[in-house]
Amino acid sequence: MNDKNNIDILISEVGPRDGLQSVNAAMPTELKKQWLTALADAGLQEIEVGSFVSPKLLPQMADAAELVAHLRQRQDVFVTALVPNLKGAQAAFMAGVQKITMPISVSEPHSLANIRKTHEQVYEEVSSVVALRNERFPHVEIESGLSTVFGCTIQGEVPEYDVIRMALRMVELGVDEVGLADTVGYANPAQVRRLFTRLRSEIGAKAGSAHFHNTRGQGLANVVAALDAGVTIIDASQGGLGGCPYAPGASGNIVTEDLVYLLESMGLRTGVDIDKLVAAREWLKQGLPGEPLYGFIPDAGVGKNFHYAGGAR
Ligand code: ZN
Repeated sequence: MNDKNNIDILISEVGPRDGLQSVNAAMPTELKKQWLTALADAGLQEIEVGSFVSPKLLPQMADAAELVAHLRQRQDVFVTALVPNLKGAQAAFMAGVQKITMPISVSEPHSLANIRKTHEQVYEEVSSVVALRNERFPHVEIESGLSTVFGCTIQGEVPEYDVIRMALRMVELGVDEVGLADTVGYANPAQVRRLFTRLRSEIGAKAGSAHFHNTRGQGLANVVAALDAGVTIIDASQGGLGGCPYAPGASGNIVTEDLVYLLESMGLRTGVDIDKLVAAREWLKQGLPGEPLYGFIPDAGVGKNFHYAGGAR
């Protein structure tokens, strides 16, 4: 996808999912649509619009199908959604998503606490989702988002071998991509470089996105380490909104605005216009009044010596 669209790094905007599911207030659907449009207009080429979960569990996500339909009207953005199980996958496929991400905890205690499933039960779920995709929705991509891979609030240490074994299992089960997520903000750059390098050597081009939370301020340092390890897809959230609602104390995704500045400054094309991206925050402020938004670039602006990678836009 990256070459085709004249970019070096694909930023996958997860604010509409990871961000909105972690706040208690529900953003009105019409404002969500305006926000999604503004994000796509800013040049973001992949957006995770929501989560196909029971509205009883997460009422903020009840409009996911409507948001998929809204964004599918345009050709310049890849529409993805989070899906925890077969039922969610079915709904997401029917709604017209182009890719689903299935979160899977490498830490089994976290998996049990989070979705009440053992690893064996998770494997069965993934198999049935892959079977459904293969049979009826062959064009939809499936990514396994391995979570708690850099550590877990329940289990503490998560052995790297467990992460690799799980990634290999996912590939065996037929998923297209395996991403790694620092669900609770425990990762450090040395660990990130090591684990992504190992992942790439084990599953090659099926190694997917890096998902970092900035809970302990290591987010952008971890991004640089992931780049060193050859990662080309990075998740981020506008205003740093988000975090995992099930991991106590975990909050704050890395901020998309700051990530675009980092990457473009380093000479890596993202396709994103920083001014338009910062302007998109207005929809978020309107939709979630009083919700704190993070980021350095929206406050400080870009430096006087800043220029976009590959020339001005
Ligand atoms: Zn997250």
